[in-house]
Amino acid sequence: MNRSMKSKPKFETIAIKSTENKYSDSAPVSTPIYLSSTYKRNSDGSYANDFVYSRANNPNRAIVEEAIAILENGKQAFAFSSGMAAISAVFQSLKTGDHVLLPDDIYYAIKRLMEEVFNRWNLSYDLVDMSNIETVKKAVKTNTALIWLESPSNPQLKLSDVSAISEIAHQNKAICAVDNTWLTPVFQNPLELGADIVVHSTTKYFGGHSDVIGGCVVMNNEIIAEKIKNIQVFSGAVPAPFDCWLIARGIQTLHLRIKKQSKNAMKLAKYLENHPKIEKVNYPGLQSHPQHLLAKKQQKKGFGAMLSVLIKGTESETTAIAAKLAYFTLATSLGGVESLVEHRKSVEGPDSPTQYNLLRISVGIEHIEDLIADWKNALSLKN
Ligand SMILES: *Cc1c(COP(=O)(O)O)cnc(C)c1O
Repeated sequence: MNRSMKSKPKFETIAIKSTENKYSDSAPVSTPIYLSSTYKRNSDGSYANDFVYSRANNPNRAIVEEAIAILENGKQAFAFSSGMAAISAVFQSLKTGDHVLLPDDIYYAIKRLMEEVFNRWNLSYDLVDMSNIETVKKAVKTNTALIWLESPSNPQLKLSDVSAISEIAHQNKAICAVDNTWLTPVFQNPLELGADIVVHSTTKYFGGHSDVIGGCVVMNNEIIAEKIKNIQVFSGAVPAPFDCWLIARGIQTLHLRIKKQSKNAMKLAKYLENHPKIEKVNYPGLQSHPQHLLAKKQQKKGFGAMLSVLIKGTESETTAIAAKLAYFTLATSLGGVESLVEHRKSVEGPDSPTQYNLLRISVGIEHIEDLIADWKNALSLKN
């Protein structure tokens, strides 16, 4: 309370002043959630910590941005309220008339974003097979400003050679952005491989517990950073402090979770590959993956915890198998501690290019023997 006042304030004033933050110097070990939308100025007009207004910045967001920048070996990072808001910011940083190259099996919502929003803004795009360098080279146009990569891709687990494609981009004065959601900086550092921008849906492995939606854009380039920061602050698709707090908590255990998940995924992929009811397993850790060597080269530290399988059977047999699994919850999304399975085609809608017999699997941290037994059981049951 302001002690310079002589008379005792009224109830309404006490209700406000008596509940203001008194403990900002109390040094808690766990970061508090700073819900405050605005920050006090000192009497000389300065601010204690550069925090002015929560859309522009706040302590919980600053922690997430600094952590992800360091982990990705970037200089700047900007957090958003979803992965799609982060991805949108990258497209908004382009100018009208620019051309973009996207992977032919790109994350479905990004294709929709281009069709529904950015086409009207006169951004054109072509879908190309990013696993083939020659095809990428041929697809570049004089106005190509951005090459977008997802490696591994969703849900086919195709890889792109990030170094080679970044070089192609740079030869054309374009930039290369990599969606690193599926591997995280634990397994892949696209900026080190030559990419200009890394994006994440922090909803997935960073959050890690299927209870928060978020995104982030990371770079090592002040010109790009300036554009993305302006879009973040003035468009305002910013994450709430509580969401940032959850993501910061997730970052603390990210490496433990994804390493265990990746180990489980490798064992499950090997089991499924030898099962007579499985037509094909898409997992970069398997020798049978057509880009296994590239995976070893550019994903130095691991193969990730996502895979997809093709079932020998009809669409209804495929969905019946997914429904019989006990430890794999039927749900979209990925990267949480719990295992999930998804029939991608039915989520992506009628124009989806995904095979009718494909199931996408996000492997969790459960015991691998239980996960394998679950598939063994589901695949043995009569439909
Ligand atoms: C989930 C996901 C997104 C979208 O992120 P949201 O947080 O759902 O907006 C983008 N890219 C990839 C690879 C994803 O898995």
